[in-house]
Amino acid sequence: MDGDAPALPRIDVPMALLYAAWSLLAGLAHGTGSTPLPPGAGFVLLVGVTLTTGLFLSLARLPPMEQPSATGVVAAQSVMAIVWSTLYAWFAGGAPALVPGMYACAVAVALPAADLSLLRRLMAAALLAAIVTSMLVAGTAVSGMGEVLLLAAPGVGALAVMLGALYLVAAALADRRQRDEARVAELTSRVKQAERNAERDHLTNSYNRRSILELVGREKARVDRNSEPFCICLLDIDHFKDMNDRLGHPAGDRILAAFARRVRSALRMMDSVNSNGLKSLFGRVGGEEFIVLLPATSLRGALKCAERIRTAVVRRPFEGLHQVTVSIGIAEYRPGEPVSGLIRRADEALYGAKNGGRNRVHVATHEGGASAIIMPDLHAAS
Ligand code: GH3
Ligand code: MG
Ligand code: MG
Repeated sequence: MDGDAPALPRIDVPMALLYAAWSLLAGLAHGTGSTPLPPGAGFVLLVGVTLTTGLFLSLARLPPMEQPSATGVVAAQSVMAIVWSTLYAWFAGGAPALVPGMYACAVAVALPAADLSLLRRLMAAALLAAIVTSMLVAGTAVSGMGEVLLLAAPGVGALAVMLGALYLVAAALADRRQRDEARVAELTSRVKQAERNAERDHLTNSYNRRSILELVGREKARVDRNSEPFCICLLDIDHFKDMNDRLGHPAGDRILAAFARRVRSALRMMDSVNSNGLKSLFGRVGGEEFIVLLPATSLRGALKCAERIRTAVVRRPFEGLHQVTVSIGIAEYRPGEPVSGLIRRADEALYGAKNGGRNRVHVATHEGGASAIIMPDLHAAS
C-alpha cells in the first residue's frame, strides 16, 4: 500500500483513451502511407496495448486493500507506454513524426505523481529508448555512425525539448505541492493550538469549566453504555480569600497555578498505578474550585486519589512559605443521574468537608444531603 504517498487520481480510463488516440493516429499514418507498418505489426501493437489497458483497468477494480501503490501503478503505466512507443518506433522505422509525441505522453501520465526523481528516471528511459531505436532502425539503412546520429537527431531532439517542458511543469507542481503541504501543516498545528487554547484555563493550564463539564458528560454517556462506575472530586482551596487579601491577587494567582501543578502530579502518580488505563482529567470550574474526573473508578479508588491530592497539597508550603489546604467532595455516578445532579451531590459533600473543619475529604451519599465523613490522617499529613 501507499503509506505516506499522495493520493493520485486514477488514470486507467484516460490512459485507455490515450492509447486509442495514438492507435487512431498510427492507423491514419499507415493508411495515408506517411508511416506504413509492416504486415502484422498493427495487430501485435493493438493486442499488446489492449492487454496492457485491460490489466490496468482490472487493477483499478481490485479492493482498496489489495491494490498496489498508486505511484507504483502510475510508474508501471508509464513504462508500459514507453515500451509500446518503442515497439511502434521499431515497426515504423523510426517514424519521428509520431514517436516523440508518444514518448512525451508516456512520460506525461506520471506527472500527477509530482515525484521528480521518478520523472527523471522515466524521461531517461524514454530518451534512451528513442535514441537506441532510431540508431538501430537507421543503422540497418545507412552505413556511417555520423549519418545515424544525424537521422536520429530531429526526433530525439524534439522529444528532449518536450520532456524538458514537461519537467518544468512537474518541478513547478512539486514546488507548489511542497508549499501547500507546509501551509496545511502550519494551519493544522494552528487549529490544534486554537482548539487546545479554547479548552484550557490559561492560569492553571487545566481544562476550563466548559470543557471539564463536557468531559464529565461524555464519561456519563460512556458509562451509561458500559455500566462501569466513575467518580468526580470537587476541590476547593480553603480560605483562599484570606490568602488573596494577605498576599495580594498576583500571589493568589501563582498559588492557584502551583496548586494545579501539584494536583496534576498527584494524578499522574495515581494514573501510573491505575489498572483501568484511562487517564484522570482535571479542570477549573470557578475561581479556586476544580473538578477531577476519574473515569472507570469506583468510590474506593476515588477516595485514595482524593486523599493523595489532599496530602500532596498540604505536605509542603507553596513557594516555600504559604501553607495551603484543600477540601474535597467526592460523588460516585449513579446510573441515569444527570451531570448536574452528580455535581450537586459532590458539592454537598464538599460543603460537608468545609463544615467539618476543611482540609478533608467527604463522600456524597447516593441520595444526596449530608455526606459521609472520611477523616484524613491529619497527623500523617502535617
Ligand atoms: P473556603 O475555605 O470556604 O473555600 O473559603 P474561600 O475564601 O476559599 O472561599 P471564597 O469563595 O469566599 O473565596 C474565594 C476567593 O477566590 C475569592 C476570590 O477573590 C478568589 N479568586 C477567585 N478567582 C481568582 C483568581 O483567578 N485569582 C485569584 N488570585 N483569586 C481568585
Ligand atoms: Mg470556592
Ligand atoms: Mg475556597
